[in-house]
Amino acid sequence: MAETPVQAGAAEVSEIHIKVSSRDRVIFPESNITKGDLADYYAKVAGIMLPWAANRPISLVRCPQGRAKQCFFQKHDAGSFKGAHVHTVPITEKDGSTEEYLYIDDADGLVACVQMGTIEFHGWGSSVGTLEQPDRMVFDLDPDEGLGFDLVKKAAVELKEHLAELGLVSFAMLSGGKGVHVVVPLTPAAEWPAVKDFADRFARALGEAAPDRFVATMSKAKRKGRIFIDWLRNQRGATAVLPYVARARAGAPVAAPVSWSELGGIDTAARWSIRDADELIARAASRELAGWGIADQVLPDL
Ligand code: ATP
Ligand code: MN
Ligand code: MN
Repeated sequence: MAETPVQAGAAEVSEIHIKVSSRDRVIFPESNITKGDLADYYAKVAGIMLPWAANRPISLVRCPQGRAKQCFFQKHDAGSFKGAHVHTVPITEKDGSTEEYLYIDDADGLVACVQMGTIEFHGWGSSVGTLEQPDRMVFDLDPDEGLGFDLVKKAAVELKEHLAELGLVSFAMLSGGKGVHVVVPLTPAAEWPAVKDFADRFARALGEAAPDRFVATMSKAKRKGRIFIDWLRNQRGATAVLPYVARARAGAPVAAPVSWSELGGIDTAARWSIRDADELIARAASRELAGWGIADQVLPDL
């Protein structure tokens, strides 16, 4: 069959050198999805996921007994985790102590984490080579309970337009949960305090311009009927869910990049699941998503 050109790495299924134990353990009970299914999913999407997930500090949502049982958020190497495929980078904390943070750089790394009970991968906004200079800013739109997805989409588009007015290109990602993340690629230059300050002021300005719809503080009480523009992802040490990550939620939905034009026609942030690996891979190579997440830009003055 004739091959159509695709984005580098997107089409090949990576060869995995990890033995996944208990492949038949059901970890998404409501949809009968097993640990083996999850490992196969990550092996399959590694080519489209690694450009976003590799070589940056990650936190893991680990649910060794499945998503319906206890899960925990792991930020640091807990001793046994590091191995041939999961690496660590020492990072100095606020208090001057040093912690070993995890990162991966290939498909084996993703699968090794699944072998250790991982479902979700969350990443810093900077890479291990330029830790202090973010290469991405994320505005995580968190709607109040019961708020329709239409309003979330509208908010995302508004953010995009305001960012564009400031000369910044941004991209939409369905979180796989309830919201949309607006992702702003950055050429590493400004350091964390400047990026955090920008994100704070940008979110606060939107909240002040439309206080009936937006709120820029975390307080649940203030969120009533509104969307929280979670800008706090943009501080050193904070993480956001990475593209193509499987969420530890019913049905194994995934975080999925979408184009601005198709966002309007999508009615849930959990539109795709790990059963859609082939479609996600095809989408990633499609014209619709060409250039998603890529822009050579730095923060303007705000
Ligand atoms: P949703 O669309 O349902 O909000 P989400 O991924 O945006 O999905 P949030 O609850 O808004 O979920 O979380 C935002 C981010 O905060 C997560 O993507 C994650 O990186 C980070 N986070 C989540 N849980 C923890 C935790 N226990 N400790 C530290 N950071 C966390
Ligand atoms: Mn969110
Ligand atoms: Mn949030």
